[in-house]
Amino acid sequence: MTVKRQLSMVLDLNKCIGCHTCSAACKLMWTNRNGREFMYWNNVESQPGKGYPRDYENMGGGFDAEGALRLGRQPSQEDYGIPWEYNYEDALMTGTDPWLRPNVKPTWGANWDEDEGEGDYPNSYYFYLPRLCNHCANPACLAACTRNAIYKRQEDGIVLVDQERCRGYRYCVNACPYKKIYFNEQISKSEKCIFCYPRIEKGLPTACAQQCVGRIRWIGYRDDEEGPIHKLVEKYKVALPLHAEWGTQPNVFYVPPLSPPKFGENGEQLAESRIPLSYLESLFGPRTGEVLDTLQAARQAKAHGEGSELMDILIGYKHAEMFKLS
Ligand code: SF4
Ligand code: SF4
Repeated sequence: MTVKRQLSMVLDLNKCIGCHTCSAACKLMWTNRNGREFMYWNNVESQPGKGYPRDYENMGGGFDAEGALRLGRQPSQEDYGIPWEYNYEDALMTGTDPWLRPNVKPTWGANWDEDEGEGDYPNSYYFYLPRLCNHCANPACLAACTRNAIYKRQEDGIVLVDQERCRGYRYCVNACPYKKIYFNEQISKSEKCIFCYPRIEKGLPTACAQQCVGRIRWIGYRDDEEGPIHKLVEKYKVALPLHAEWGTQPNVFYVPPLSPPKFGENGEQLAESRIPLSYLESLFGPRTGEVLDTLQAARQAKAHGEGSELMDILIGYKHAEMFKLS
């Protein structure tokens, strides 16, 4: 699907501290009410982990190798996590209950397996993976919609749901392999990340990027050769899409995480990285090792006082310069 310009985001996983400020900013702005309580248009997962919704990577969707649309399955409410309220009035105002309690017994939630990861001490590992709609160039949600209710804006490629046209058939939920489009039962319509387009139209970055404590997010247009997106994705080729094999051509890219070396039986450092390369390749594809080598070389150069435009961009000295919105 061709658009005049495509807005994109790059996230450097080496800098994410898992603080969830991005998710909180998004939730407060867009999804804390009116049937959206279970939705996290932006969420932060500990990986390896089951993600949000639970096991989304095994729910199917996207396109097969021949380009045919695959309808996967829809997550259940339990897969998302049933939202709960606390007894603030009783616990904090009247004192009739000494404990702050949720009003349902939670069995799963967006960060249920937070910081669990994999491996055994001293070689256990995990990293944080923030996820949002990828505003794909070949959106499976759009391809699946029989009402033509989903569209990509010509001016910036943001994928939106026309709420007037949507009839809540939910084919989009089945088809999105990232499970980043949600069904709102209260209004019987699908809803998703809107890339904060009302902010973008005012020249402001998305709320998740603006509030990002780790300064891990860059926003800009793919065709802006002087902008950070073009430099990280095309020039230095250090930013990769998540699960490119699902065929939707994401416009959200990740700088994969480096990790410290593994320890051997006698405490000696091994040549192998703590996070297995094979695992990272299963997420970010076969170029991941090459990217990690490029990052390592750029770090070394910077550490030895040599110039590195790549490291200067990745450090993000000035937050405002991480966003190029014109
Ligand atoms: Fe559609 Fe999913 Fe791609 Fe977002 S990530 S544009 S919801 S297919
Ligand atoms: Fe990571 Fe930034 Fe979100 Fe914190 S706000 S979890 S650093 S992406």
